[in-house]
Amino acid sequence: MTQSLPQHYREILVGLGEDPEREGLLDTPKRAAKAMQYLCHGYAQTLDDIVNGALFASASDEMVIVKDIELYSLCEHHLLPFIGKAHVAYIPTGKVLGLSKIARIVDMFARRLQIQENLTRQIADAIQDVTKAAGVAVVIEAQHMCMMMRGVEKQNSTMNTSVMLGAFRESTTTRMEFLQLIGRSK
Ligand SMILES: [Zn+2]
Repeated sequence: MTQSLPQHYREILVGLGEDPEREGLLDTPKRAAKAMQYLCHGYAQTLDDIVNGALFASASDEMVIVKDIELYSLCEHHLLPFIGKAHVAYIPTGKVLGLSKIARIVDMFARRLQIQENLTRQIADAIQDVTKAAGVAVVIEAQHMCMMMRGVEKQNSTMNTSVMLGAFRESTTTRMEFLQLIGRSK
């Protein structure tokens, strides 16, 4: 952790009109800094580290789908959480990715300051890069604390974003199959 992060949190407390010397807040700057560092640990990770060779030869060209991946991120506009699920699919062309790796790729990008649209795109591009798939689809549905706790205070609105690459973009049938499998088709 950079030395100054707890110091900055202390100044935030002062800025809010709090007394950073009162008992309940004594360790808060240190704790908050540590928590924030954890929530942003995706900056310290790279795609190579995460994939770490877990690409396996496969003759399958059937859609691989991982749905309901828990997602915790922070919006870059307010530093407030957005929380939801990611659904990821790809169509392999000779190589498949170890199953847990997809969730870890989602996590690496989610654990940075984000907007949901960019997060969705970064996950799709990374999976495309790594697998050279014939197509990649990513759907994220998330609730944003910056909408729920402040601003318009809309408690029940979920934001949906999707990125479709290759076959998922070109073929309505493939896209519909994916949306059906994640329970999002109408
Ligand atoms: Zn926000």
